[in-house]
Amino acid sequence: MIIEIDPAGGFCFGVVKAIETAERLIREGQDVYCLGEIVHNEHEVKRLASMGMNTTCHNDIPELKNRTLLIRAHGEPTETYSIASSNNIRIVDATCPIVLKLQKKIREGFKEMERLNGQVVLFGQAGHPEVIGLNSQTENTAIIISGSEEMERIDFTRPIRLFAQTTKDKIKYQKLAGLMEDAIASSGENSPDFKMYKTICGQVSDRIPKLIEFAKKHDVIVFAGGKESSNAKVLFQQCLAVNHRTHFVSGPEEIEPSWFLQCNSVGISGATSTPRWLMEEIKRQIAQMNPEISY
Ligand code: SF4
Repeated sequence: MIIEIDPAGGFCFGVVKAIETAERLIREGQDVYCLGEIVHNEHEVKRLASMGMNTTCHNDIPELKNRTLLIRAHGEPTETYSIASSNNIRIVDATCPIVLKLQKKIREGFKEMERLNGQVVLFGQAGHPEVIGLNSQTENTAIIISGSEEMERIDFTRPIRLFAQTTKDKIKYQKLAGLMEDAIASSGENSPDFKMYKTICGQVSDRIPKLIEFAKKHDVIVFAGGKESSNAKVLFQQCLAVNHRTHFVSGPEEIEPSWFLQCNSVGISGATSTPRWLMEEIKRQIAQMNPEISY
């Protein structure tokens, strides 16, 4: 049996940047507090905690006077910056450049919609940290929908600017935009004003065709990701659609030997928040269960 780690799997550049920033601050001896888990991966969070990084939450920000607050790749709502500044807290902003660009686009879309009595619609997961930051650019007025079944909340007779959370499924986003165009047409609006912005991150969508090929070529796929990771859910579903022997794990302890019965090859892949070292550990764990594995 052979076992292969997906060469295109694991951390995206936004997450790499945030983690490298955290490691640098720790090396400099700073008392670093990351606002929320730095990535949706408990193993990586534990590794950084063992190096000295603290994880904090929004309620505790005022208690961090004169300390360093690290903003992770997902970004933060505008209020976080003002609360930190009024409490003399130093912010180190590791928001992914792609998320920053999207925040700016949404802010502009919101200003335009204010002038035109329109609506900002956000295809995303309500409550997700990135979505909270994006929604704050609209003064928390965006209509957040996770699928077409929630479209009745939109007034199709008024202007619409449509954006997506960076890690959403590109095909579902395109279908949603198509359904919205149909709804505008059937609303009888004579001069529809609808714009859809392509805001899904290429680090996720460009990965999918390669991941599908990878999942097809192995008998069994072990997909590693954090249970809270939106991107892990999307990528796992893509593997499962082409290989029914795909298993989701958050760490090596969840692997079961029975998955590898009558199996000649195993592929291991991971989300944009999954560290390479974790995929290596999963590989070692599978190898221990199956001593006949060749590399
Ligand atoms: S998935 Fe894309 S947008 Fe999100 S952190 Fe990674 S590079 Fe940035």
